[in-house]
Amino acid sequence: MTLRALHPVRFIAIALAACVLTTFAQTSKPKKVFMITDMEGVSGILDSDMQCLPYKSPRWEESHKLLTGEINAAVDGLLAGGATDVVVWDGHDGSQSLSVLDIHPKARLLAGTPISPTLELDSSYSAVIFIGQHAMAGARNAILSHSYSSLGIQNIWVNGKPTGEIGARVRLAGYFGIPAIMLSGDTAACEELHADVPQAECAEVKSGVSRTSGFMLSHQAACTLIRQKAQRAMERLGEFQPLRISGPIEVKVEFTTRGEAAIRPREGVERLSERTWAFHGKDIVDAWLKFGSM
Ligand SMILES: [Zn+2]
Repeated sequence: MTLRALHPVRFIAIALAACVLTTFAQTSKPKKVFMITDMEGVSGILDSDMQCLPYKSPRWEESHKLLTGEINAAVDGLLAGGATDVVVWDGHDGSQSLSVLDIHPKARLLAGTPISPTLELDSSYSAVIFIGQHAMAGARNAILSHSYSSLGIQNIWVNGKPTGEIGARVRLAGYFGIPAIMLSGDTAACEELHADVPQAECAEVKSGVSRTSGFMLSHQAACTLIRQKAQRAMERLGEFQPLRISGPIEVKVEFTTRGEAAIRPREGVERLSERTWAFHGKDIVDAWLKFGSM
């Protein structure tokens, strides 16, 4: 039977039922969010030795509280914006910064090592967000900027484009079809995400004057801002697309003398100059797994 053959009233009834079912399917689809966390982008953090070394820094207890507070504010915002499941990855220095004692009761914690350089991501996630994120090594007025290892890595390029942790993870998430929708961190980190995802929500919780100084929001103000931006990002989820880059991919890394020591030439891994190596792959994941950094 064609639609044309239906009585108009029956046609409207069927169309309405289909509409209700579609809406129900959309609203009931789980919205799972992966939260990448770090410490250097948290408001109030500006000194690595004093604040960022787990259980060694004199101000470590305060740092743990600041980081946890910002993360939990983001979880609140994501849930208010429609997230159904939030996985929080403990991404700072050896994955020992967060505790199940005080993490948001509705979040699940991904902690410990080793995990995959692709962060155990898969296509079941609807979005990725960054909390406490810092900008790439060498970025201007970027508080505690670095790319994976402050002591081991000078620069990273993906197909010739300077790339830090933000850019790399936006592209790795894109490979799995996941958009990056929100970040909290300093002004430089926000600019770095906006270069890849102009419509991303950004909670600018501090602004660098140099690599180790800047203007900071109070913890309470930072948490309020993060909660608002995370909620707004979830409400706008439909506006985001994953950033997919097509292969082949070259990840080029300029190491420091210290970082270079561990690299050996092998299939797809080539030494370009004294401290610069290229990792070749058929796509971003293939190249990234050869580089091997989280
Ligand atoms: Zn860190």
